[in-house]
Amino acid sequence: MNDPDLLLNLVYAIPVLLAVLVYLWLRRRSEQASLQALADAEQAGLTESASLHPVVDLERCIGSGGCARACPEEAIGVVGGKAVLVSPSACIGHGACAAACPVEAITLVFGSERRGVDIPAVTPQFETNVPGFVHCRRTRRHGTDPQGGRAGAAGDGHHRQAS
Ligand code: SF4
Repeated sequence: MNDPDLLLNLVYAIPVLLAVLVYLWLRRRSEQASLQALADAEQAGLTESASLHPVVDLERCIGSGGCARACPEEAIGVVGGKAVLVSPSACIGHGACAAACPVEAITLVFGSERRGVDIPAVTPQFETNVPGFVHCRRTRRHGTDPQGGRAGAAGDGHHRQAS
């Protein structure tokens, strides 16, 4: 290889090498921040989400980091090439992470292995799978439900003991 060829190869190779090094450095820095957030959450005992939160299918996750970049709460990060909910208590459950995942590896769920929740399944007729309870629709305009009960804060409905 003569000198002009070598020079030309270097002109192409050096920027590519620099880009790879910067990418690896940013990735490493991001992972360290995620590990720190995870350690802080564990130390504070805040390892459970209060409500709706993402669960990552580790088989599907390719560690793209799209979820972490999409999360405004910095609740999710990438550790060891996989997405992890690093600050569960910071998650507000709006699902930006799930929408940003390119391989649909994130599902939003309530509850966890340690903190189960029983949310009644509701049929189109507003019957729940909990004996004795029906789901009542209410109008937002008047703040009342169709059966005359008073509604609370804004929401899609509430449950009422069937009479
Ligand atoms: S649901 Fe929202 S707050 Fe929670 S991890 Fe996903 S993007 Fe972040």
